Amino acid sequence: MIPLAEARTRVLAGCRALAPAERALEAALGCVLAETVTSTGDVPPFANTAMDGYAVHAADTQDVPARLRVIGTLAAGGAPDRPVERGQALRIMTGAPFPAGADAVVMVERTRVEGDEVVVLAPAQPGDHVRPAGEDIAAGQEVFVAGTPLGPGHLGVLASIGREMASVVPPARVGVVSTGDELVVGAGRLEPGKIRDSNRPTLLALARQAGCQVTDLGVAPDDEAAIRDVLDRGLAECDALLTSGGVSMGEFDYVKKVLDEIGDMAWMQVAIKPAKPLAFGVVAGKPVFGLPGNPVSSMVSFELFARPALRQMMGFGPYGLDRPQVRAVADDDSLRRQPDGKIHFARVVCAYGADGRYHVHSSGGQSSNLLRAMALANALAVLPDGAGPVAGDEVDVMLLS
Ligand code: AMP
Ligand code: MG
Repeated sequence: MIPLAEARTRVLAGCRALAPAERALEAALGCVLAETVTSTGDVPPFANTAMDGYAVHAADTQDVPARLRVIGTLAAGGAPDRPVERGQALRIMTGAPFPAGADAVVMVERTRVEGDEVVVLAPAQPGDHVRPAGEDIAAGQEVFVAGTPLGPGHLGVLASIGREMASVVPPARVGVVSTGDELVVGAGRLEPGKIRDSNRPTLLALARQAGCQVTDLGVAPDDEAAIRDVLDRGLAECDALLTSGGVSMGEFDYVKKVLDEIGDMAWMQVAIKPAKPLAFGVVAGKPVFGLPGNPVSSMVSFELFARPALRQMMGFGPYGLDRPQVRAVADDDSLRRQPDGKIHFARVVCAYGADGRYHVHSSGGQSSNLLRAMALANALAVLPDGAGPVAGDEVDVMLLS
């Protein structure tokens, strides 16, 4: 067995970032910026009012109540056509350009209208409620550096500086194939010895959640030629492949045989439970993950190896690869374990308690075939080799959602 960190280092070393591409903003959510973006203009582009109210000379409002003549009304989107003189006020709405002459805005709540005059009830100071040009972003300013993952706010900022496209690392195209003669797709009758394929829908969804663009490569039987065909097709269309099943020591584990023939594969026994077996290699320049067949193992293997590797391909830096981890209190003895030289990843339910700490308990049976308990878990407790925590002990927890 090799340590988890060593297996992970090997996998990450085989997964280089994809080439950047120009993408429309609406297709760039979640992508990592591949350019450093500089603004050509100011945001906001002009000084404007932060409040509905009156643009005035602050000096005219020092003795209240102060009467000023209203010279017009300016809405957001309008442009002032004359300066505000001493003794005058311009009615002005939030976002409207701040007029020349004036130096402050009096909010409407501090005024009263009398005929064509406004009575200002509280003195204003120069600069009150005026938002200067470039307050958010100045022309020439570096807005985001290359390597920034784009969230909804980033897309808004890019739009605000007039960008319609950005150079980003595109989503990895990931093909997913299940292998096994026992697998049946969909709702049809189960003949003796058959089970339904659950790994493919799960892995397709995990890859989509990780920000990838997925291709469903279907189910391949335990047959060398069929497996070779589907891998060839996947390698032609995708940037990376996920297979599940057929990588153990069984007599019909042809995935292993085929991958060995076409690629430079490492067959690892990782000191973890579940998901001990892992095949990883680069085939025709593309990373291929041979994940174990047991449903929980394939999910945990995805979390520990494929997800960080795919995110590295999509340009995420070292701090953007992994799920967040927190410390949590074990609420009972359900996470006790036997020493076996492995790190265990226990399926747990994790909740934030009224005491300001995270709490965990087992989500159900911990065998690698019990997918429901994995589905019910929202976190994996990372249990170092040993006897495991008793109620009240703290554990590291990887949050899956
Ligand atoms: P294997 O690695 O092919 O020996 O499979 C290990 C276990 O996982 C066996 O019990 C398989 O039936 C099961 N298994 C493999 N692939 C899938 C799948 N796609 N969906 C559900 N179970 C699977
Ligand atoms: Mg099999």
